[in-house]
Amino acid sequence: LLEMKNIVKDFAGCRALDDVSLSVEKGETVAIIGPSGSGKSTLLRCINALTRISRGSIALNGEVFVDSENGQVQNRSGQPEAVYPSEKELKRICCETGMVFQHFNLFPHMNCLKNITYAPVKVKGVNPADAEARGLELLKLVGLPDKRNEFPGRLSGGQKQRVAIARALAMEPEIMLFDEPTSALDPEITGEVLNVMKTLSARNTTMVVVTHEMGFAREVADRVVFMNKGKIVEEGTPEEIFEHPKSERLQEFLSSML
Ligand code: ATP
Ligand code: MG
Repeated sequence: LLEMKNIVKDFAGCRALDDVSLSVEKGETVAIIGPSGSGKSTLLRCINALTRISRGSIALNGEVFVDSENGQVQNRSGQPEAVYPSEKELKRICCETGMVFQHFNLFPHMNCLKNITYAPVKVKGVNPADAEARGLELLKLVGLPDKRNEFPGRLSGGQKQRVAIARALAMEPEIMLFDEPTSALDPEITGEVLNVMKTLSARNTTMVVVTHEMGFAREVADRVVFMNKGKIVEEGTPEEIFEHPKSERLQEFLSSML
């Protein structure tokens, strides 16, 4: 479903991704772990073109949307950047991804249901009644069936994040991307968000999850990817990564997480 090949991402004076290749199959849950600054968020953001790659190629759903073989340009800060399709084309492709951030950024002036139905109606042209019916199902799925009229300001962090997940799902993306969805939450409520993600994973939603929650990676992920200094150092099943880490760097990282 997703195929990233030989991705390089340079920021001014810093190589955030250094020849990273990653593929994700339909239905798979992939967890990305690694120390701060290792390039996890950058990798995730390259998938939906929030960050533009310097070199490499990315295919989503069988469609190569960026490939540096087709040329490079310089962006405003003088960094090389692979040539991307038009904004409109890119928007269409990126609709196949749904992203959930550390900070939920819900629309504060819309109630929960409206937060969820807004984009499907506005961007995809779904008829409002259908969007609403689907929105209510999604609220149920994330365990908040009675919050449809509530405004984000009146929700707890965990509830907001669950609405943010429902909002991303409402666009029916092929792949869901999570960037540390629980790290801004109080420890007692991370569980409710992780449980929703676990449910999604069990329903074979394709997911890439950047996380510091080793328990979640171990229990829920089909595959775990360990990054360090812009490279994928090791990847494997949770058992391979957590029980039999090969590289010293991973062993060190895991013991620092205890
Ligand atoms: P964390 O666990 O702290 O979120 P991370 O693994 O997500 O870390 P990234 O945010 O991907 O790390 O950052 C990778 C490297 O790229 C870092 O050295 C960071 O300073 C650099 N970087 C990220 N975004 C930018 C940017 N917009 N401009 C310049 N450098 C950046
Ligand atoms: Mg990050």
